[in-house]
Amino acid sequence: MNMTNAPLPTNFIQNIINEDLKANKNGGRVHTRFPPEPNGYLHIGHAKAICLNFGLALANGGLCNLRFDDTNPSKEEVEYVESIQSDVKWLGFDWDDRMFYASDYFDKLYEYTVELIKAGQAYVCDLSAQEIRQYRGTLTEPGQDSPYRNRSVDENLDLFKRMRAGEFSDGARVLRAKIDMASPNINMRDPVLYRILRATHHRTGDKWCIYPMYDYAHPLSDAIENITHSVCTLEFADHRPLYDWALDQVNYSLEADGRPQQIEFARLNLTFTVMSKRKLRELVEHGYVSGWDDPRMPTISGLRRRGYTPEAIRDFCDRIGVAKRDSIVDIALLEHCIREDLNLKGPRVMAVLQPLRVIIDNYPEDQVEWMDAENNPENTEMGSRKVPFSREIYIEQEDFMEEPPNKKFFRLAPGREIRLKSAYIIKCERVVKDEQTGAILELHCSYDPESHSGGATSGRKIKGTSHWVSAAHALKAEVRIYDHLFVSENPDDEGDGLDYKAKLNPNSLQVLTACLVEPSLAGATPGSRYQFMRQGYFCVDPIDTSENLLVFNRVVSLRDTWAKIQKGNEPST
Ligand code: ATP
Ligand code: MG
Repeated sequence: MNMTNAPLPTNFIQNIINEDLKANKNGGRVHTRFPPEPNGYLHIGHAKAICLNFGLALANGGLCNLRFDDTNPSKEEVEYVESIQSDVKWLGFDWDDRMFYASDYFDKLYEYTVELIKAGQAYVCDLSAQEIRQYRGTLTEPGQDSPYRNRSVDENLDLFKRMRAGEFSDGARVLRAKIDMASPNINMRDPVLYRILRATHHRTGDKWCIYPMYDYAHPLSDAIENITHSVCTLEFADHRPLYDWALDQVNYSLEADGRPQQIEFARLNLTFTVMSKRKLRELVEHGYVSGWDDPRMPTISGLRRRGYTPEAIRDFCDRIGVAKRDSIVDIALLEHCIREDLNLKGPRVMAVLQPLRVIIDNYPEDQVEWMDAENNPENTEMGSRKVPFSREIYIEQEDFMEEPPNKKFFRLAPGREIRLKSAYIIKCERVVKDEQTGAILELHCSYDPESHSGGATSGRKIKGTSHWVSAAHALKAEVRIYDHLFVSENPDDEGDGLDYKAKLNPNSLQVLTACLVEPSLAGATPGSRYQFMRQGYFCVDPIDTSENLLVFNRVVSLRDTWAKIQKGNEPST
């Protein structure tokens, strides 16, 4: 039953759910979960999993839990737990009162495991990790039984209890499932269920010195939470028989009404970035980026700081869809989504990133005119604002060229005219240069007083229009321009023998410290977003902006490479 008005997603997982609902499986319930391991910040790949799990629940009148898979104590940190919660909320999803930790179930899991041993389905093994690997066999050869495989139930129970009591050193013994060392699926060759590990857990402290393995804790946690559809990424497909085995063995002691089903989908990969938490953590810890929220990072906190909106990220996740085969998505699609969103939402303002002084010699010295400027031509409801114009202004250095290459250069040059956006037409009369270096210091121009606002020549057609700011009114700002974090499209591909770090883009960050922005940006709220005319979309950096300094991050340029690619793909008519 679809209890919301949201259209049902069209993907293979929704199709499975449709069939399940038809058959009244799980009593017609849909209950999913998003199960991050708190060992790093969430990234755009997690956003896909979040949108999928919470989205399926919403569309089917179901529920979605947030569950921290914290079975791996040495790596977990409270900072990650907190960042994960705020990222999921920021994306627009809500777990209500259903936030859980796998560690909540350690006691229950222990009890189930004792039952499992009593049923002869698990044994304590004294082989070392290396020996276990040797006994495991290969993809083409079966494994060999561990010499400890046939211990009696009593001995196994005794040893397992003593493992828990801390009588053995880390790694001295493990508890293994007794399944089949000759199984064609290596995951079924008596996998380890519990290991001894003396590490302080962020929630259970030093209560435990044995911890369950993910593959064992996960199905049981799903069952305890009455999850119906346990969605995970493709690499777990080979683990599904173990997931089902765990449920089969302990089913008698679970209260679940219904039974969770594991369903695998293709993880998101994006060009020009890496997505593994291990690699992202390495970039942070070794200072290749300024932190998890560095605006170049594919993390949700990085994207948020950069200026991405939750709407754009959800739109992206919708567009990439859910597939059963791995692929790499072009990062240009993500950029396209934020560009589309900000095109409607972002007020247009004028900012000069690399200023060139322009003196308008025939403009009255102390005069200031407040020009009407439209806030967003794509969204007239956003109204207009006033922008001050005066005798001394700044334009972009690249909007002037002393010797323009050809007639197609529609910017300012000696003797040529441009229109200043929302103001007059000016003509370059004279260039002032540094006598020593030849560097251009300033331009002297004249303006056509009739060329603006209903004046006699206001309709005069001029090819080039430039943005500008009034020197006396402009505010100083720092602007950070980002490029892809990596120069390589697929930095994970180490086929060339190079580590992914060798493919970092040395020019991924350009800091412009002498920028000037129009005065309407005074006191701009951290996190607010604008279109700087002709320069792209920018966001007020929430961390480094202070009362004394405005800092802007460029979210994305105006050039839509994705739209171009799409156009190129359209069949010609
Ligand atoms: P890593 O291997 O980088 O540590 P992970 O998959 O172990 O990542 P988890 O914290 O276990 O990270 O992931 C939580 C959930 O998010 C899992 O259900 C996982 O399948 C999903 N997920 C992780 N990465 C991606 C991705 N790139 N695309 C889609 N879903 C993902
Ligand atoms: Mg994981």
